[in-house]
Amino acid sequence: MKAVVLKAINELELAEVERPEPGPGFSLIRVLACGICGTDRHIYKGEYPSSKPVILGHEFGGVIEEVGPSSKFKVGQLVSIDPNIVCGKCPDCLAKRTAFCPELTALGVNINGGIAEYVLTPDSQIYPVAAGLNPLHLAFIEPLACSIRGMDLAALKGGERVAILGGGVIGLLVVQLAKLAGASEIVLVTRQKFRRDVALKIGATRVVDPKNEDVSQVVTGMDVTFECAGAVDTFKQSQVITRRGGCVIVLGLTAADTNLEINPFSIVVNELRIQGSFLNPLTQSRAAELVSSGKLNLDILISKVVDLDGVQAVLDTPPAEGDIKYIVCP
Ligand code: NAP
Repeated sequence: MKAVVLKAINELELAEVERPEPGPGFSLIRVLACGICGTDRHIYKGEYPSSKPVILGHEFGGVIEEVGPSSKFKVGQLVSIDPNIVCGKCPDCLAKRTAFCPELTALGVNINGGIAEYVLTPDSQIYPVAAGLNPLHLAFIEPLACSIRGMDLAALKGGERVAILGGGVIGLLVVQLAKLAGASEIVLVTRQKFRRDVALKIGATRVVDPKNEDVSQVVTGMDVTFECAGAVDTFKQSQVITRRGGCVIVLGLTAADTNLEINPFSIVVNELRIQGSFLNPLTQSRAAELVSSGKLNLDILISKVVDLDGVQAVLDTPPAEGDIKYIVCP
């Protein structure tokens, strides 16, 4: 089978590799779609740790091609995959904090992933989706599961004023989740006009261009702010624009060695809750259900679809202005 293998930092190969056979507890997935995200770019450049050689791709789904003995799955089923594999037995897993499992490994990071014709997948990671789902939508289920984790931590009840900083895939999924959760106001702050226009079509009630407006002046008193940019500026803004007693959900990843000054006094007297949100602990199944329901506008987020031959060019070039999501269809 064909696969995109990361052989070393900055070295990819579209290789012919042996097609795996599923043993007990495993299935072979024929990949229909795999998203490319910022983490893949970081892995490629050596800025995020991964095994090498490894087949990249952690946002994927497809059709079950072969099952292992006594499998509960059926050949031909359309499925999404949770790439994050945990032990299920450690104190963190038992307490449902699976993102902190010390044994955590991920398809497409430490184990061969979805930028390939086929992937050998543990059955524990497989989530069926509606038959007939647009296969391209499979690429959104993992990032949506991470966004749903942020929503869980925000615990919106309806009627809240919500700000979202950063209009990439995560920010634009959170816009749609906030709308479904009944937020009364949804303000999206992002620099690219195309993304602001998309946000207005999918649920934002107001958009702000941080290059032309002072975010901390024009966005104030938010009940919940989602930091989805992974930038120092937006992290600082999030604390200023959130109301006293409000909550900042930090989804965006800065570089691991980024530090900045905070004002502890202000956090105390404002009872500000600054809450990190990491990966998709126990949210993949709800993400698969929500994508299957057709309630999200995902087509508007798809900028380019490439085959395996096109992956190198995508990873060698920064996303073009206005582009949101690139998907590989092997
Ligand atoms: P993305 O496509 O890079 O989107 C982030 C966007 O934020 C940028 O494209 C940029 O859009 C905007 N931005 C950057 N600086 C800004 C600023 N100063 N003010 C306003 N907007 C700014 O990435 P993504 O896939 O949506 O992911 C978002 C973040 O979440 C990333 O840091 C990613 O690593 C992280 N992430 C975290 C988890 C988790 O489990 N916590 C899971 C997946 C991803 P404009 O050019 O339009 O400003």
